[in-house]
Amino acid sequence: MVVPCYNEEENIPLFYKAVTDQYEKLLELGVKTEIIFVDDGSSDKTVQKVYELQDIDSVVKLVELSRNFGKEAAMYAGLLEAAGDLTAIIDVDLQDPPSMLPEMVKSVISGECDCVATRRVSRQGEPPIRSFFARCFYRIMNRLSDVQLMDGARDFRVMSREMTDAILAVSERNRFSKGIFAWVGFKKKWLEYENIERIAGKTKWSFFKLFVYAVDGIIAFSAKPLSITLFIGLLFCFISLLLIILIIVRKLIFGDPVSGWPSLACIIFFVAGIQLFCIGIVGLYVSKTYSESKRRPMFIKRKSRREKKGTPDKEH
Ligand code: UDP
Ligand code: MG
Repeated sequence: MVVPCYNEEENIPLFYKAVTDQYEKLLELGVKTEIIFVDDGSSDKTVQKVYELQDIDSVVKLVELSRNFGKEAAMYAGLLEAAGDLTAIIDVDLQDPPSMLPEMVKSVISGECDCVATRRVSRQGEPPIRSFFARCFYRIMNRLSDVQLMDGARDFRVMSREMTDAILAVSERNRFSKGIFAWVGFKKKWLEYENIERIAGKTKWSFFKLFVYAVDGIIAFSAKPLSITLFIGLLFCFISLLLIILIIVRKLIFGDPVSGWPSLACIIFFVAGIQLFCIGIVGLYVSKTYSESKRRPMFIKRKSRREKKGTPDKEH
């Protein structure tokens, strides 16, 4: 079970309790659980809370990242660590109900599918404007890209070893996991549930961050925006050609060269805007290519501070 955590000190004990409630049902299915918390550079007591759990339960593991690398990198770090035949990705804020795990595990074990994924069918508790943009995103994404995303899909899922390995093999830096999960294929089963509000703490997503995430998703899984800019460019060339002909003909017939400069100014602004927009789109692809080409590691692990904490004790 891979659990990315970023400043979740309040949620960790609650999450642990909810998961241990499922231990027995999972054991009945022949599944031994291992919980891998990934601390994504938290600045609160998240790490200490996990240490406390490690003291009482040996199945609790912790991967500590050297700073906040984002949930995508944290999930990758956790999946790398997960050695089990099945892997689950689950949020620590209990928005992904652990009570669904036994059912999900059962479907994968029985060979019914390689992955049981979840989606929320309602968005209650979310600002309506955000829901509106989220729906728009899924519609645009599915139009533009070859991978089809499910509206409301969560990262919460249980996967076979085979699928986990496939996801790990996709080692791109700019990760858009929802797209990668869809891209690797395999047989999926979808479970649906109503939106649940996080139990404590605050969401890490602002509207702006979500917008950037959405753009990243489109860029990572579609080159169609580039074709669209090409199309817009060609369209404008064609229109300007018609206008040039019109102006020449008008000049020859009426001989009035200076009329209409305000409309000209508007057109220049408009065309300049379109050009900048298109260059911006090209720029996004260039910047992604640039950051991939640097091949920086997706995340950096930090040695557990736990050992360091032990040393002063010896001096007492
Ligand atoms: N998270 C993370 N790194 C980040 C942001 C979030 O590991 O930089 C974790 C967070 O602790 C939580 C999960 O990702 O377990 C989902 O985050 P959040 O609840 O903020 O997102 P939402 O559920 O609103 O999509
Ligand atoms: Mg959440």
